[in-house]
Amino acid sequence: MAYKISDDCIACGACAEECPVDAISEKDGKYVIDADTCIDCGSCASVCPVDAPAAE
Ligand code: SF4
Ligand code: SF4
Repeated sequence: MAYKISDDCIACGACAEECPVDAISEKDGKYVIDADTCIDCGSCASVCPVDAPAAE
């Protein structure tokens, strides 16, 4: 299990600052989560203005 960022992402960067394990990075104008690093804490989802990160 890991969180995944949907196409709704507006690349604000808030989630990347919040992630405790630095699993989120910017790629081609969108933010992506490294599933192997994500610890499923949910912090990214709680700060995202458009609810783009969701648990898979
Ligand atoms: Fe990072 Fe937590 Fe979001 Fe996973 S769920 S990407 S660990 S903030
Ligand atoms: Fe994209 Fe939401 Fe992360 Fe902002 S907080 S970069 S909109 S996923």
